[in-house]
Amino acid sequence: MDGPSGTGKSSVSRMLATRLGARYLDTGAMYRVATLRVLRAEVDLTDAAAIAAAVKELPLHIGTDPGREVIELDGVDVSSEIRGDAVTKAVSAVSAVPEVRDLLVAVQRELAAAAGRIVVEGRDIGTVVLTGADAKIYLTASAEARAQRRNQQNISEGRGDDYAAVLADVQRRDNLDSTRAVSPLRPAADAVLVDTSALTKNQVIDALYQVVAQQLSTTGGSR
Ligand code: C5P
Repeated sequence: MDGPSGTGKSSVSRMLATRLGARYLDTGAMYRVATLRVLRAEVDLTDAAAIAAAVKELPLHIGTDPGREVIELDGVDVSSEIRGDAVTKAVSAVSAVPEVRDLLVAVQRELAAAAGRIVVEGRDIGTVVLTGADAKIYLTASAEARAQRRNQQNISEGRGDDYAAVLADVQRRDNLDSTRAVSPLRPAADAVLVDTSALTKNQVIDALYQVVAQQLSTTGGSR
């Protein structure tokens, strides 16, 4: 499951995994943990070599139970801290560093192989990480719809109400993620596009479930 931020990707991926009886992996959370590590090391974000050195040893633990989020750095829960402003602002710079991607992609492949059936969400899952996935979905929505959702989420989680700033951040990250040299955000040639702009969460889940069932029947679940 790939797509830009704010499409509702994380929550629907988690719900879809539960419905499919599958494990779940949020790869964005992994890039966020790497970013937290970089911020704590007070590394210059324009210095790719220093970023790579800061995440060389990354004591990251991420769970794959869709019903229970576990994200730890150095054995300490960081699930809330990685969603904060500081990490969100810096994550595109960190995730553009090839060494960071190589490290995390290797872990993602290991976790996926160990899990059996799993829903993996990110930006490059269908194009790079799991090119042989049995089903590939690219979730999209207009930048405005995505900013609206993220702003709503910020309000409900006590992080304030600032639609204009959220929209600017969504556009900034879209641009950075889709124009970067390594693993840019784009749909895989064999992904099914689902636009969530005008759909409720339950409608999205139903659509995704149908797409997965249809793709599995085409690929035989063994691509
Ligand atoms: O999904 P989320 O918004 O938490 O992802 C945070 C950031 O991590 C993205 O903006 C992107 O820069 C990076 N990312 C990535 N590749 C992935 C998942 C996330 O580069 N597979």
